Amino acid sequence: MEVPDEDDPFEEQRDRTANPMRRLFAGYGQERRGVFGIGVVASILARMLDLLPPLLLGIAVDAIFLDEGPFSFPLVPDRWLPTDPEQQFWLIIGIVLFSFLGGATLHWVRNWGWNRFAQHVQHAIRTDTYDAMQRLNMTFFSDKQTGEMMSVLSNDVNRLERFLNDGLNSAFRLGVMVVGIAALLFWMNPQLAVVALAPVPLIAVFTYRFVENIQPKYAEVRSTVGQVNSRLENNLGGIQVIKTSNTEGYEADRVEEVSGDYFDANWNAIETRIRFFPGLRVLAGLGFALTFTIGGLWVFQGAGPWFFTGTLRPGEFVSFILYTQRFIWPMAQFGQIINMYQRAYASAARIFGLMDENAGIDERTDAADLVVTEGRVEYDDVTFSYDEEAILDGVSFGAEGGDTLALVGPTGAGKSTALKLLLRMYDVDSGAIRVDNEDISDVTVTSLRDAIGYVSQETFLFYGTVRENITYGTFDADDEAVIEAATAAEAHEFITNLPDGYDTMVGERGVKLSGGQRQRLTIARAMLKDPEILILDEATSDVDTETEMLIQRSLDRLTADRTTFVIAHRLSTVKDADRIVVLDDGRVRERGTHEDLLASDGLYASLWGVQAGEIDDLPEEFVERATRRGAKAEVDGEEYDAASGRPAVGDGDD
Ligand code: ADP
Repeated sequence: MEVPDEDDPFEEQRDRTANPMRRLFAGYGQERRGVFGIGVVASILARMLDLLPPLLLGIAVDAIFLDEGPFSFPLVPDRWLPTDPEQQFWLIIGIVLFSFLGGATLHWVRNWGWNRFAQHVQHAIRTDTYDAMQRLNMTFFSDKQTGEMMSVLSNDVNRLERFLNDGLNSAFRLGVMVVGIAALLFWMNPQLAVVALAPVPLIAVFTYRFVENIQPKYAEVRSTVGQVNSRLENNLGGIQVIKTSNTEGYEADRVEEVSGDYFDANWNAIETRIRFFPGLRVLAGLGFALTFTIGGLWVFQGAGPWFFTGTLRPGEFVSFILYTQRFIWPMAQFGQIINMYQRAYASAARIFGLMDENAGIDERTDAADLVVTEGRVEYDDVTFSYDEEAILDGVSFGAEGGDTLALVGPTGAGKSTALKLLLRMYDVDSGAIRVDNEDISDVTVTSLRDAIGYVSQETFLFYGTVRENITYGTFDADDEAVIEAATAAEAHEFITNLPDGYDTMVGERGVKLSGGQRQRLTIARAMLKDPEILILDEATSDVDTETEMLIQRSLDRLTADRTTFVIAHRLSTVKDADRIVVLDDGRVRERGTHEDLLASDGLYASLWGVQAGEIDDLPEEFVERATRRGAKAEVDGEEYDAASGRPAVGDGDD
């Protein structure tokens, strides 16, 4: 009984989760059953106290004011009760006061228990889900949008919390109310109880139908509001393009259109909703009128109409009327509770599905830590594909310890992919990558990544101080080491010129640094980590010549005595490499030193020619191939952004 969420990107995960709610309670509820128990017991007791005053009022009317009935309570022996009317009166007042005060206390305890339970569970689930998500391999992240994952971590987890808190709480309240009231009514007068309770199933069916009816309408509202938000976000982000291409009118129309859809969807839902409550009132009112008519006639005439034999005392009648009023509105929540349950079910299924997702990178149970001695790295007949198409097809190359190996080749050749395999962002399909003769799939992932530094063109900084960003991953470095690393990375000078020096906040909400500065911070981070093996992924793109020189100088220091793999589009930066491997279409085309490759006059020589500006002298075949590649990328419609592993299409919803 789950609601299929429209366009659920986690459908696959959701579908294979059996019994998510049982797992929620067994896995997470079990450990916190203490607070859960407190919540349940307090809920039940609080509701029972709530039921006392109407009953007492009825008894008081009959026994004390009208002197028509016995002064007796359900479940309490009569000999415990006073016989003097005045004492009886004060006893009633006392119990009513007690039930209010006790009720207030119990409500507090109940809220404390439920909230505590819900918060604990949500906290544990969120951290566990995050943990599990972090371990997934990169394929998962490139398939799913970050927003979708955020939505599981926040919306789905919050929805569970709401259900645990409000939904379950209301369910208990509703259960206790309906059962408790039904029991009391039957105890007082079974025949009239049947009349008073007659609307209950009707109301249940009515509210359930309402929820069934309104759910798809709410889904439509959610989807249209999503469209409005994406459109607005998109337009505000692209405001410069809108202004320069003079398309304000066009965009205003598009916003009006999606906003209009939202209006319609919302109105559709509102219409259904505003019909529901009057309908409920009519049902409840009919039930009330029926109880009042039959009960009233009965009190009036001494003996009831039709089969309503026996007597009905005025006080009982009062209690009846008060009780029937009591369960109508909680019943209106019946549909709501079912709805909450269904949505929590879907959320729990998504969350547990995600937790069960295979991490992708399997570590052998007997994996030992990698010990790097020389730093020799060897790719041996490596084949790899993201989906069907082979990106690397039987690739072999290697670097001796301390050497620098440059990977060059056209965009999409598989250079970044090859180096991501070394980091075990993905696992090879066949072949092996070895570090000092140790297959990297036989060692622990942590020890492998510890030995490798990765400096990419995507210089992501965390929101935090400059120092924190440099020590990220090393953490325990002292100031001296940080400054030394920053100096070697040619970053110390600009850092000291920042408002707070090494304590300046950078990253998303901090001081904006230029691309070259960010890059040097990343280099400083790698310096500090001092790994045996280094990967530079197009580390010097996007900066001016002067900065490039600074970066190059710092890189030379960084790469000096460690095995280094470089990917650079600017061949001038790699011509001093000990060895250059030219990749094209997932295969090694050429290898050798800069001089060797120029002499052999192949793909490398052509690429070198392009960069030297000798476009006119290029072999016809080279130009043809480049054109073909360009056309392919356009047909595919989505080129991959190699650094982020995400499609490089900017505008997601056009
Ligand atoms: P290079 O670094 O040589 O430019 P990449 O290794 O980034 O090449 O990409 C090689 C091929 O793999 C390209 O065709 C690219 O579209 C594809 N690719 C890269 N990343 C992914 C990914 N995460 N999922 C699917 N295909 C990808």
